[in-house]
Amino acid sequence: MTEHAATAPALSYELYPPRNEQAKSTIVDVIAELEASAPDYVSVTYNGTPERRRASVELIGHLIEHTRLRPLAHLTCVGETRESLDRLVNHLVALGVRGVLALRGDKPEGDDPSSHGELPFARYLVELIRDVENRRSASLAAGRLAIGVAAYPKRHPESPSFRHDIEVLLAKERAGANFAITQIYFDRTDYANLVRQARAAGVTIPIVPGIMPVNNERRLLRLCELSGLAPDEELRSRLAGASTDAERHRIGVGHAAELAQAAFDDGAPGLHLYTFNDARSPLDVVDALQLTGAGTADAREGAEYGDANALQ
Ligand code: FAD
Repeated sequence: MTEHAATAPALSYELYPPRNEQAKSTIVDVIAELEASAPDYVSVTYNGTPERRRASVELIGHLIEHTRLRPLAHLTCVGETRESLDRLVNHLVALGVRGVLALRGDKPEGDDPSSHGELPFARYLVELIRDVENRRSASLAAGRLAIGVAAYPKRHPESPSFRHDIEVLLAKERAGANFAITQIYFDRTDYANLVRQARAAGVTIPIVPGIMPVNNERRLLRLCELSGLAPDEELRSRLAGASTDAERHRIGVGHAAELAQAAFDDGAPGLHLYTFNDARSPLDVVDALQLTGAGTADAREGAEYGDANALQ
């Protein structure tokens, strides 16, 4: 089943909070470079120690105060109480955040059930965010929050089957999600297959392909380790066989651009690029595709925050 995007594809990037003072200063340049391509939004990951989590919220504050970029705040429910999540969502909304990616997060190592938190799955976080939104409806007069969720082109490592993942995605939509972003994937048929199966099951929200330009073998293996995916052997051997950084860069960007183009051909409503806090590779993918976002404050004048259509 091929879908047709009604408008130009939305463009977004993923950043993670800087890990030290030096990274803090370089990320400002990275953000400025990414901003020049007018992405529709920039997402900020959320995980790790309390300091790392605070750094995520600080980065979102920076985006709101010092750039014209629209942030999408990742939020995870693992290890959290309802009360702590409620407080955090209220804080983000008060900061000016109008888009949240609602995730469960990875279970802590050792898998001690007492550390799982009060909400076992992302769909309950979607419900909690909608609940906060209802209680704050007076201050959110401009519209609803945009809530995104994760989708998996390959079976999630803890899931019994790919079909189960589709049911979980449907449950997240029914809980109030407006759109989904996929986990990384390496084969062009994976995105088309996910969308086809999701639509057949009744999922109607936009499913945005999440793609990462991978420009060295070590990063590819690390990524696969983190996401529970099998490394793409063809990409791996091409990267391993390249003799210069420039060649590896070309391979990574070319592979990502091909995946993205295939997803657009299959009707993808947008492109979410995982950046590893490096502007060059994602911007080269955007150039290769001759893409441009519509996301500067001027370009989106009149568009409502939180309108799911703005993410299509
Ligand atoms: P869920 O949708 O809750 O699913 C988790 C598991 O539970 C799946 O195996 C699912 O099949 C199963 N499940 C769900 N509901 C049920 C049910 N009712 N009954 C039985 N089983 C069920 N992690 C971070 O820590 N920080 C981030 O910033 C972050 N950003 C991400 C961004 C994207 C775009 C993606 C794709 C992932 C991101 N992750 C992040 C990783 C994510 O947290 C992990 O993949 C996590 O293991 C699952 O999160 P989820 O939101 O998909 O969980």
